[in-house]
Amino acid sequence: MKILLAEDNLVNQKVAMGLLDRWGYEADLAPNGLEALNLWRSHDYDLILMDLQMPKMSGFECARAIRLEELAKGSHIPIVALTAHAMRGDRERCLNAGMDAYVPKPINPEELKQILEEFHVHKSPRLVKQTKFAYSLAEIASHLGGDLDLAKDVIRVFLKEYPKELSKFQQSYEKKDFEQIKQLAFRLKGGLVYFGAEEIQASAALVETKAKEANLEELKAALKELQSHLEELGAYLRSLQ
Ligand code: MN
Repeated sequence: MKILLAEDNLVNQKVAMGLLDRWGYEADLAPNGLEALNLWRSHDYDLILMDLQMPKMSGFECARAIRLEELAKGSHIPIVALTAHAMRGDRERCLNAGMDAYVPKPINPEELKQILEEFHVHKSPRLVKQTKFAYSLAEIASHLGGDLDLAKDVIRVFLKEYPKELSKFQQSYEKKDFEQIKQLAFRLKGGLVYFGAEEIQASAALVETKAKEANLEELKAALKELQSHLEELGAYLRSLQ
């Protein structure tokens, strides 16, 4: 596992790099957020340890910039915040900036080791779950102005609506109403944007295409795929509530 440490404080740098080295992790050091962003762009890291207060670019800004660029790439690197003041608001601020977990400073070696092992073994964040299908809750919120409550509302609405949408697809298919299916698929695609569910958007786009072509057999297969993808997304989103 290759780690990027973004930290401006010399003592903290020494402590964290020393621990990582002792535990056998390969690590690079960035003394500010801007350098961290550039290193992340040009290297293939498995995890970032991110101090929050840094010169040039803060940990919050750096995490946001990374999450934004990841949208285009469809990737997600775990970011663990290193926070000096374990204040209540810090957790929300970290989540809103797209970070996955945080450890308070001064670093407790056992706690840091445990977090790294969790990410290493499970490849999944500590605070938020992820799937290949969708963003973490923090990321969904970060695309809604950083509002976690709004993110949960959007998820609730989606969970309530998608089974109804699925039965509309089924009804329209039985009636061979291709125009209606096209419209349903188009509308569904728009709603999926909030969850970063590109794969499912692609399934919906395929349904749209097959409806346009009025290809009953292939449309049936595309609808089946869309349904199973939506059910998987639904199960994941329910786990975020
Ligand atoms: Mn700092």
